[in-house]
Amino acid sequence: MNAGAYGCEVKDRLLHAIALSPEGILHTVPVADIGYYYRGHSLPPGWIFVSATFALEPGDPHAITNHMETIMEKRTATQPVRSRTAGSTFRNPPGAKVWEFIDKVGLRGKIIDGAQFSELHCNFMINTGAATAAALEQLGELAREKVLAEYGITLQWEVVRLGRTT
Ligand SMILES: Cc1cc2nc3c(=O)[nH]c(=O)nc-3n(C[C@H](O)[C@H](O)[C@H](O)COP(=O)(O)OP(=O)(O)OC[C@H]3O[C@@H](n4cnc5c(N)ncnc54)[C@H](O)[C@@H]3O)c2cc1C
Repeated sequence: MNAGAYGCEVKDRLLHAIALSPEGILHTVPVADIGYYYRGHSLPPGWIFVSATFALEPGDPHAITNHMETIMEKRTATQPVRSRTAGSTFRNPPGAKVWEFIDKVGLRGKIIDGAQFSELHCNFMINTGAATAAALEQLGELAREKVLAEYGITLQWEVVRLGRTT
């Protein structure tokens, strides 16, 4: 799904991948043919990646370690990474930060049946205990309704789930 953060995505380091198509054929696909975009790719549905080859840039081990630690500290300080969360909930609209809208419509910290918008970073949903998928979805839909009503913006789920297109 072309994961990325802090200015680098999978597509920036991948050389090629080997994928199994539904017909049972192995394909070696160069990165240019995968058609990566923000959190997705353009290969046909049903292809299964079985291996990938990445090219990394050589660097000073201490500098790399320091860089990784800096990023991890920043994450821990700004995102609820130690809570039960699946990461960002909605995509940022062009030129805007989605957490600001969730905050402004008053949903920071809002809980529905154990599903909560994080107090630390309110574009993250947390399962505080025994929240069901339905509770998480209900909370997310509440944010979509409120942001649409107050700002005319339709929030898009970060991950497009099966059967969902918005
Ligand atoms: C706290 C937190 C912070 C996060 N921050 C970021 C971030 O900054 N940037 C970002 O990009 N993401 C972020 N994420 C999301 C993260 O990148 C994804 O959750 C993760 O990459 C999904 O991979 P997985 O193997 O864990 O999930 P899975 O659920 O196993 O897979 C995810 C999808 O890929 C498909 N899939 C899995 N394996 C294969 C395969 N071999 N071939 C084809 N399809 C396959 C699955 O069917 C599913 O649709 C964050 C998540 C968390 C929990």
